[in-house]
Amino acid sequence: MASLFQKEILELKGVGEKRSQLFIKLGAPTVGALLRLYPRDYEDWSNLVPLAQAPAEQVCVVRVTVVSAVSEQRIRSGMTLYKLRVTDGQHDALITYFNNRYIKELLVEGREYLLRGKVTGTLLRREMASPDFMPANRPLPLRPIYRQTAGLSSRQISSAVRSALGLLPNPLPDPLPDPLPEPMREACRLCGLRLALENIHFPKDREALEQARRRLIFEELLILQLGLLRMKSRGRQQTSLHMEVDATEEFFKSLPFIPTNAQKRAVAECMRDMQGESPMNRLLQGDVGSGKTAVAAALCHSAIASGMQAAFMAPTEILARQHFTTMSGLLEPFHLRVALLTGSIPAAKRREILEELQEGKIHLLVGTHAILNESVAFRRLGLVVTDEQHRFGVAQRAALTQKGDHPHILVMSATPIPRTLALMIYGDLELSVLNELPPGRQKTETYVIDSSKRARAFGFLRKKIDAGRQCYIICPLIEDSESDMASVTQYAKELQEKWFFANTVGVLHGKMRPAEKERAMEDFTAGRTDILVSTTVVEVGVDVPNAVVMLIENAERYGLSQLHQLRGRIGRGTEKSTCILVSDAQNEEAQKRLRVMCETTDGFRIADEDLRLRGPGDFFGARQHGLPELKIADMSADFALLQLAQGEAKELLTRDPAMELPEHRGLRAEVRQLFTSLE
Ligand code: ADP
Ligand code: MG
Repeated sequence: MASLFQKEILELKGVGEKRSQLFIKLGAPTVGALLRLYPRDYEDWSNLVPLAQAPAEQVCVVRVTVVSAVSEQRIRSGMTLYKLRVTDGQHDALITYFNNRYIKELLVEGREYLLRGKVTGTLLRREMASPDFMPANRPLPLRPIYRQTAGLSSRQISSAVRSALGLLPNPLPDPLPDPLPEPMREACRLCGLRLALENIHFPKDREALEQARRRLIFEELLILQLGLLRMKSRGRQQTSLHMEVDATEEFFKSLPFIPTNAQKRAVAECMRDMQGESPMNRLLQGDVGSGKTAVAAALCHSAIASGMQAAFMAPTEILARQHFTTMSGLLEPFHLRVALLTGSIPAAKRREILEELQEGKIHLLVGTHAILNESVAFRRLGLVVTDEQHRFGVAQRAALTQKGDHPHILVMSATPIPRTLALMIYGDLELSVLNELPPGRQKTETYVIDSSKRARAFGFLRKKIDAGRQCYIICPLIEDSESDMASVTQYAKELQEKWFFANTVGVLHGKMRPAEKERAMEDFTAGRTDILVSTTVVEVGVDVPNAVVMLIENAERYGLSQLHQLRGRIGRGTEKSTCILVSDAQNEEAQKRLRVMCETTDGFRIADEDLRLRGPGDFFGARQHGLPELKIADMSADFALLQLAQGEAKELLTRDPAMELPEHRGLRAEVRQLFTSLE
């Protein structure tokens, strides 16, 4: 059986040398892989109507017999019309095809077929132009539609799949049974592999398709969860990097503020990890402004005090610079060497940094992905902190452990995610949460207005600017617009000319070159621009305390969590800040969501609301979580199955941590395969 799945695609009947190359390109070099190329959709052939009752202008299916052989008629050069007559026993119809010379062999006189297409003409003269067809003796109620590649049609894929399915013995024998152990299948009410494969490709009916999907989705999610959990336990390798010195007290005393209880708790949790035998793998979740940087600094300080080096990685150049400044400031009392490494550091400077890093003279290296580069070697790297982890995938996390002797890893996220979800997406990490903001913060007021009040809102912005403050305006989203550049610049120009001619308006968007972005940010930080018109790129960690107003256009188009992120850019100073959500959305749902924004500034509550109101889509979707690509499951749509799979994965690993039992062999192989890209 194993050998059957491994059989090369070339060995399949009807697949020649050339076509096999195309299948390989499609990701199906073997019979097994071909069977796992699930259809992307299904065409419904189950709704049969008599010719006489075929609705106008609507695709329908008729069951007919060919009554006259195909006749050929050349209508102009290069155009041949093929005609045939069919009957459904009551009525006739004329069927036409253009330029399909195979039609003669495919539609044979006297045989019965299903035709799918639009029926036109009068009752006396029914016609169908180029209908799709299938033999009526083995009808498919739901015809699979496959993702095509150059040169391979959905129909060709379908026929290869059919011959592959034909090879499967029934029932599937050992030694490669269903990867899902039978007791698990029974407990979770999942059908067997054979039935699933047959019905995912050629469903007997809707219900059978649903059964098949459920099983295959579960399987995929289970494998994903097993992989993540295994990575977590693999993270428990030995490390030589025990944190010997706990210098957190000393560090806390050096701070210009008193750490919150949440900060102290998070630091203690991390320290406990780092004092152990195996490396820390922890996610620190904390709302914007909850003071994650200080937590990171405390840990870096202790790591350095224990004779190690630390690295701090940010997803963008802007953020790396910002963190460099902050970390340098926080660590200054201890006279430590902090260096910045990004893609734009000049070669000579870079060489110098690398050298000093290797000699151990640099204690903390702050930077972008550039830190991951092979040429960057530490003398004794003990701790890696990454900020805004959703930009770092599991693979990068794995790459990090290669640097040094399994350094401790802390990933920080300013995106509050409901705990249940966090545990699933970051199944390979432990979780710490900063659920408390430093005291004395002014709460940002949030208002929803419709566009008729925009002029007044702009007046409010002008007043703030006159008083020396700055504002963000998040520019309108233009549906289907590839270039946010066009929309931002256009919008900014209009603002400048119509509303803010006396002020300076800056622009920031994702398509700008890093140097341009930086200039725009610097101008804003230094107060040279009054208004920053931006796309959501300001979302990540930008810190300008003098900016006290944010106006967000088309607010209804964003998820709550994203709005929350955006809003986190203001309210960072001592002055009260105001967030204005502009929306003309009429529907109840949208208004309800925007009201949540006005009611609370608690990121975790907002995340919970977002999950409740919109489902987990926003958390899984837009956000790049860096998990392996899934074939059939959609973690947001299949949330209930995800939970089920996670439960099963945990239970399985409790019983059989190394997945060594014979009944787990199949699953282990699949886990290994899904995660190869990560190893
Ligand atoms: P984030 O979690 O969003 O990264 P930061 O680390 O940037 O938050 O902290 C936000 C601001 O709060 C910074 O100016 C920081 O100095 C300040 N801060 C952090 N912790 C405290 C605290 N315990 N008390 C007062 N201010 C704090
Ligand atoms: Mg931060």
